[in-house]
Amino acid sequence: MNFEIIDFHTHPFMLREQNICNHIDFCNMSPDSTLSVFRELKISTICGSVVCFKNQMFPTLWEKVRCNNDTAMELKQRYGDFYIPGFHIHPGYVEESLAEIRSMHEKGVHLIGELVPYIDGWTDDCLDNLSVLLKEAAKYNMVVSFHTGGHDFLDAMAERHRDIAIVAAHPGECDSVLRHIARMKKYDNCYLDLSGTGLFRYGTLRRLIDEVGADRILFGSDYPTCNPAMFIGGVMLDPLIRDSEKEKIFSLNAKKLLSL
Ligand SMILES: [Zn+2]
Repeated sequence: MNFEIIDFHTHPFMLREQNICNHIDFCNMSPDSTLSVFRELKISTICGSVVCFKNQMFPTLWEKVRCNNDTAMELKQRYGDFYIPGFHIHPGYVEESLAEIRSMHEKGVHLIGELVPYIDGWTDDCLDNLSVLLKEAAKYNMVVSFHTGGHDFLDAMAERHRDIAIVAAHPGECDSVLRHIARMKKYDNCYLDLSGTGLFRYGTLRRLIDEVGADRILFGSDYPTCNPAMFIGGVMLDPLIRDSEKEKIFSLNAKKLLSL
């Protein structure tokens, strides 16, 4: 069976400082090579935010957010339908973030994140401010992709925001998988993408599907810090997973969520 594949979790880049590959000097990478890597793997569409670890490059964290979001829009111009941009908001900059949400809505961009608090200098005590932003985003039916740092934080977010789709990133090891499952059982607006750590543990995906169903699990890699080829294999070649389930995970769920 041939599956259409959408990679829900990537971090495309323009500048070297935005490229989070740990082996960058061995990979001959550029914005054009991103396109060819995914085409080669028969991945038709990628989603996600531009990130940058180099906070010292910017006078303020909001200027970093701006730069990453501007780069995402530049890449959208360059890549066309291949790329669904995700944008950043920052709970330390509420007014600026509210304006960004409205502006992105006008541009037709409805994916927030992946948000990665530890990269952008915010922590759990920002939940009240983040809530103001998520309430605004919910008005526009946005989807928020969120790094799994602390499960307690994700639980608190889910408890407060039943009206916005929250996609947690990375299944993680067994304890983490169980926390995702518990949250997804409790809140039907919670999703999980398969990027990063977790999928390589045998039975992870089967357990997720048996516990919460195949409708809220999304294929994702976390390119360029992770290798999308491995994640394709992890779903495509998993003998425990049925074709109908693979089809949902590879593309149908993302299409429904993002109205593609
Ligand atoms: Zn990521």
